[in-house]
Amino acid sequence: MDLVDKLAQERWLTGKEFKTLLITENENLRAKLFQTAQQVALANFGNKIYIRGLIEFTNHCQRDCLYCGLRCSNKHLERYRLTNEAILSCCQAGYALGFRTFVLQGGEDRYYSDDVMCRLVAAMRTAFPDCAITLSLGERSFQSYKRLFEAGANRYLLRHETADALHYSRLHPPSYSLAARMECLYALKAIGYQVGTGFMVGSPYQLTDYFLDDLEFIKTLNPAMVGIGPFLPNKDTPFRHQKPGSLEDTIRLLAILRLMLPKALIPATTALATLHPMGRQYGILAGANVVMPNLSPLEAREKYTLYDGIVHTGAEAAESLKLLNSQLNSFGYELTVDRGDYQG
Ligand code: SAH
Ligand code: SF4
Repeated sequence: MDLVDKLAQERWLTGKEFKTLLITENENLRAKLFQTAQQVALANFGNKIYIRGLIEFTNHCQRDCLYCGLRCSNKHLERYRLTNEAILSCCQAGYALGFRTFVLQGGEDRYYSDDVMCRLVAAMRTAFPDCAITLSLGERSFQSYKRLFEAGANRYLLRHETADALHYSRLHPPSYSLAARMECLYALKAIGYQVGTGFMVGSPYQLTDYFLDDLEFIKTLNPAMVGIGPFLPNKDTPFRHQKPGSLEDTIRLLAILRLMLPKALIPATTALATLHPMGRQYGILAGANVVMPNLSPLEAREKYTLYDGIVHTGAEAAESLKLLNSQLNSFGYELTVDRGDYQG
């Protein structure tokens, strides 16, 4: 039995074994990793890829994460907020295209108090009773998460970013803590959300050993969704001269995650598609089963610059679902309009 068989059967390896899978130059082992991850995804989801409509509803952010173009210290960014009407019309357009999950993502924007945010979620819940509402609004209090859940939100995406506390402190201002981030994730889970976490691959100062902590944390949290993507520099951040994360590391980690969590919803992320023209395809062939096309109004997309070069047209755009589907068809997959709840 090789390491891939062991991971597929026991869903766990020693640190040293994980590291071997991440860095091995043995082509057979590498190929087996991808093939087995793809088979596990096919066994659980068939050749169907779920779609989530991403609505980037505000690029205001009170936080100052060193890697992110929305950080409050970035004075070169024109800030915007979509009105509730604009958000609901994005949903309407998305619904007509077949989307049954809407992901509201934004910076940590003080304007969105619990009352304001709950009104928005409740309006979406009333207008689209058969759709899943996913939020990705960063860190909030237990009470706030609870109120949003009661207003109708079903899922929450909050990446832990890195599970090594020292590394976390090098990516964020000193007052932010990994412990607080993890506490939010456990709060979300306790409330009843389908929770997504994840991390950036190749962020500055990251060591291969840190991935072992990421995998261990993910194993413990046992999330419904895991989003990972390469770090990509943004010219208006302190990390402007850092190099991007690697495609190879990202897809190996995707494959490992698929073997660890056979039923998890794992996107082939926009960052992966931005890093490499074939990124989405490689991600799916490594076991990813979700894509998140952009439903935001075009003017907003241009101002939601987490990193440079972010792709939001062509197959990344919700209005081009046919193009995306034909790209998926070319390697044996197809989009599905199913809501795609976690069945773990
Ligand atoms: N404000 C929320 C959601 C928006 S940011 C939050 O922080 O959770 C969403 C994700 O974008 C982050 O979790 C981070 O992993 C990713 N991101 C931000 N800047 C990035 C960069 N430069 N390269 C790659 N991913 C980045
Ligand atoms: Fe704000 Fe999220 Fe960017 Fe951090 S990663 S600066 S919280 S938008």
